[in-house]
Amino acid sequence: MGLLTFKKGVHPPDMKLLSKDKKIERLTPPKILYFPVAQHIGAPAKTIVKKGDPVKVGQLIAEAVGFVSANIFSSVSGTVKGIEDRLNFLGTKTSMIVIENDEKYEKTEFTLLTDLQSANIVNKVKEGGIVGLGGATFPTHVKLSPPKDKPIDTVIINGAECEPYLTSDYRLMLEQPQKVVEGLKILMKALGATKGYIGIESNKPDVLKKMHELCEKESEIETVALKTKYPQGGEKQLIYAILKRKVPAGGLPMAVGVVVQNSGTAAAIYDLLKEGKPLYERIITITGNGVNEPKNFLVPLGTPINYLIEKAGGLKENAAKIIMGGPMMGFAITDLTIPAQKGTSGIVVFTDKEVYGEDYDVCIRCNKCIDVCPMDLAPYQYALLGENERYLEAKDWNVLDCIECGSCVYICPSKRPMVQFIKLEKAAITAEMKKEKKK
Ligand code: SF4
Ligand code: SF4
Repeated sequence: MGLLTFKKGVHPPDMKLLSKDKKIERLTPPKILYFPVAQHIGAPAKTIVKKGDPVKVGQLIAEAVGFVSANIFSSVSGTVKGIEDRLNFLGTKTSMIVIENDEKYEKTEFTLLTDLQSANIVNKVKEGGIVGLGGATFPTHVKLSPPKDKPIDTVIINGAECEPYLTSDYRLMLEQPQKVVEGLKILMKALGATKGYIGIESNKPDVLKKMHELCEKESEIETVALKTKYPQGGEKQLIYAILKRKVPAGGLPMAVGVVVQNSGTAAAIYDLLKEGKPLYERIITITGNGVNEPKNFLVPLGTPINYLIEKAGGLKENAAKIIMGGPMMGFAITDLTIPAQKGTSGIVVFTDKEVYGEDYDVCIRCNKCIDVCPMDLAPYQYALLGENERYLEAKDWNVLDCIECGSCVYICPSKRPMVQFIKLEKAAITAEMKKEKKK
């Protein structure tokens, strides 16, 4: 089979060489850790510990509120030092539980799930605080609970890792591929799906080979090679590439009988169900030409970014910009005390030569953004409307279908900040829709 792919997209340099050969290192936790109660899509969790409380590794410290929410666990043992409103990666303040590490690493008792029935799996995944680790942070138990009229026949594991620079999924799939395969089997069981795919970009031939060997005898699971192209890991792009099914505008993958999960999420489900470990640590890539020793770390969640950078040899003198996540969809951060959280897949540090200023030019109507938009939108229009603060009109241009992949910004010769305006437009439209609903 040739390389599978979707229509349009871009080809940024993958820059994975910097960290791809760095084995996953378990990071010794710092003395003080910060746990935001909002580190997933949905309602923030409710803090259930107070200042002075002792905690253990894997202890529940904030409880999910409602269905679309997720539990939060301590990654160290120690004492709760307080609950503080602190800056998060979005530049807004979030309530965070501050824990002082006693360096004893006493663990809570974990209960293993022996009866792998669908309902039990979904409940356990909810209990374990599992969310999409590719960056979306959507609570996984919600994806595992489709309505009865939307049966799921296929689960796709996103092993594309199409964001340049990032290698955390690559290292996971290379070093612990069985966790991903076993996690996929659990997901298929939970959903009653009969077919599973692991989609991997062609720039990871060693992972493709390993996964292929591992799945050879699994008749229901197939490893597929995807073209190296951005955003190959987008849910809708992945479904089209592998199954040639088109998710309708405004619809979810379940509309075409599919659930997509990131490879890290599949491994986290394995860790939870087979090793009894809730989600309190994850693999994070620290990389970029602005950092001295790029690394792939297994990070206790709550660890501040400056500690991660220090453990990666520190910043180079010409370091100029730090991105949380990948360069295409990540967020520039300035406060390095922000903690690593469930959705943090990487930290990328750019040098002064690699960053360009905030200035941008007028639209020259070159159509390049239209040519690359994987959702068949007209990105130039979002910047034009945004500049004139006509945010609500973007709805008529289907802005809600935008997956914020940044391909349009990448290709634009005028460096117009489409995604920045798209976020503003989506926020304004959502607020308006809520107002209408109330009426
Ligand atoms: S790529 Fe940039 S300059 Fe070209 S049409 Fe789109 S917004 Fe305008
Ligand atoms: S408009 Fe949205 S989906 Fe299209 S290229 Fe730009 S960011 Fe990606």
